[in-house]
Amino acid sequence: MIYLKTDEEIELMRDANRLVGSTLAEVAKNIREGVTTLSLDKLAETFIRDHGAIPSFLGYNGFPFSLCISVNEHVVHGFPSDYVLKAGDIVSVDCGTYLNGYCGDSAYTFTVGEVSPEVRQLLIATKHSLYLGIEQATEGKRIGDIGHAIQSYCESNSYSVVRELVGHGIGKKMHESPEVPNYGKKGYGSLLKTGMCIAIEPMINMGKRKVVFEKDGWTVRTGDRKPSAHFEHTVAIRAGKADILSTFEFIEEVLGERFI
Ligand code: MG
Ligand code: MG
Repeated sequence: MIYLKTDEEIELMRDANRLVGSTLAEVAKNIREGVTTLSLDKLAETFIRDHGAIPSFLGYNGFPFSLCISVNEHVVHGFPSDYVLKAGDIVSVDCGTYLNGYCGDSAYTFTVGEVSPEVRQLLIATKHSLYLGIEQATEGKRIGDIGHAIQSYCESNSYSVVRELVGHGIGKKMHESPEVPNYGKKGYGSLLKTGMCIAIEPMINMGKRKVVFEKDGWTVRTGDRKPSAHFEHTVAIRAGKADILSTFEFIEEVLGERFI
């Protein structure tokens, strides 16, 4: 069952998603060499609660943290830990909030110090593929159009698309129907209608697409241990142009020239 949201509900979702954007900007201010990923989790939880919201990941199916922090070969769902960030790391930070009855969900992959040109290019391509997917997220298109746009761009650049994890509908619940794969066929899948809200979140590997689920029951890493990147926006379907409810603008203000 796909729930279509009213304009009023979409504005509430925008509030939750803008809080995700400002939380990720707080992470951006603090992410650097020598910092533990657990410290980023703590500051995000405090920031979210100080703004009257709840970190929606905390306790979700037993997930024990407020952020998913996935470093280098970790794709998604990584645990914040006492790992100390070092120059050359890439850090995918996925954040969710629950505010006034609605969920926000967005992710950004940060760089620590200098990263190799190849890794930087992976991040640029992954973020670009997110916007190619968003371009397809308009009334009358189909879910497969989104995945096709992401997949064809990434594969033509010799990257691979993770299959085991996908984007999703979002609203009062963090995960609603439909699933939003980052791969697919043009013209296939659920029809997109005004009022649908979905999280589009390409997870793109530098090497092969195969992933491994770690023994902690959550962390997903690449099978070949090459790096993986993850960027995510929550969008509302409209005629003509998707309405992006989450934002990277606060992150961009913090990172300046370091913004990918
Ligand atoms: Mg997310
Ligand atoms: Mg998501």
